[in-house]
Amino acid sequence: MKRHLTDGELRASLDAELEEGLLLHLDACPECQTRLLQLKQEHLRSANRLSFLNQGDRTCSIGSVCVEPFYPGIFKSKGDIHV
Ligand SMILES: [Zn+2]
Repeated sequence: MKRHLTDGELRASLDAELEEGLLLHLDACPECQTRLLQLKQEHLRSANRLSFLNQGDRTCSIGSVCVEPFYPGIFKSKGDIHV
């Protein structure tokens, strides 16, 4: 088989949902394996970004120190309300 796998098919292989013919191609094709690695890394990066955001939310609800640089306006207006 000469056709390379699409991004969708590569993602399917991550979920072990790829049909066997394509899986055989993936096993034998360095280009598709490289692309698959890139997709994996992109996935990991976005997962890390999300967990960072979640952490920020948690920190924000406990104390303002860590989040304040990212949202300078929020805590200033909060202060204004108290004054
Ligand atoms: Zn290929």
